[in-house]
Amino acid sequence: MNAQSVIFDGHNDLLTRLWLSSATDPVHDFIYGALPGHLDLKRCRQAGWMGGLFSIFLPPYSYVKNNHPDKLANPSNSDFTPQEIVDICCAQLELAQQLQARSEGQIQICTSLAQIRACQQNQQLAIVLHLEGAEFLAIKPELLDVFYEAGLRSIGPLWNRKSLFGDGLNASFPHSPDTGSGLTREGKDLVLACRDKHMLIDVSHMNERAFWDTLEIADQPIVATHSNAHALCPQARNLTDRQLAAIKQNGGMVGVNFDVAFLRADGQRNTQTSLDVIVDHLAYLIDHLDEDHVGFGSDFDGCLLPDELSDISQISRLIERMQQRHFSDALIEKITSKNWFNVLDKIWQ
Ligand SMILES: [Zn+2]
Repeated sequence: MNAQSVIFDGHNDLLTRLWLSSATDPVHDFIYGALPGHLDLKRCRQAGWMGGLFSIFLPPYSYVKNNHPDKLANPSNSDFTPQEIVDICCAQLELAQQLQARSEGQIQICTSLAQIRACQQNQQLAIVLHLEGAEFLAIKPELLDVFYEAGLRSIGPLWNRKSLFGDGLNASFPHSPDTGSGLTREGKDLVLACRDKHMLIDVSHMNERAFWDTLEIADQPIVATHSNAHALCPQARNLTDRQLAAIKQNGGMVGVNFDVAFLRADGQRNTQTSLDVIVDHLAYLIDHLDEDHVGFGSDFDGCLLPDELSDISQISRLIERMQQRHFSDALIEKITSKNWFNVLDKIWQ
């Protein structure tokens, strides 16, 4: 990769990791120190990773209860209270705001391509705020406007759980993406409200029926920020050839997820997974979508990575593997940044 190359990434879970962190000041550690995990500012800079879509995400209750009970008001409950759901999402937005405010100009929340380009020029980290699962909007719908004002420009209305907006997507491996009902009335209204705000709409965690419902009403390019090819790894979160054909027709985009369980043909959570498998998914998606509609959607800080790519500092190994597989420099530039820039610019107009 030449020194000018930059990587803009369709999905990461840094904000959730900061929220879950037990460090005294994880925001400081991210900006000025060494934060354990896949990402911190120093390593991102060295790797040419200029940011991307940063997810605000409500983790599964059982995960928080078992691993971070100190984050819960009452760990003997069996689920989040509505107030906790709202508070957790607000806390992650606040963490993004703190990253910007305390970075001395090194980190910027972006709401336009011009701002992202300025970050690229000035070697700043660009944060595009993304909401993964919109449960808190079922509790306080008025927060959509508040979050939009704060910079939210991308939304995945559903996550794996069932919510007011639709069935989640939760199936054992292997499974087709057809795992339940589509968007509810409220789910469709949410998609339409976000469309009217020119926000990116993410179908990565939608089951197949919700995917088709969204495609029908969205009237803009549809994006799967972190999903792979179902033909190569039959995990329900991956996209079938029929879905890929629809995304192609719609002018949308797919970001390739680096999580081994979404890459491997056997779906195993086995980190001894060759980076060639990531390149296989990229090549397959390029075949089905063409080279202008495929990017990275790493899932850094929210996934199990292949050993060869243990954190952001190893990303050049993947680029080298793409070169070895005869991806041209122009194609690599499209995948690593340009395609995301184009689709965001189109949607945000
Ligand atoms: Zn996800």
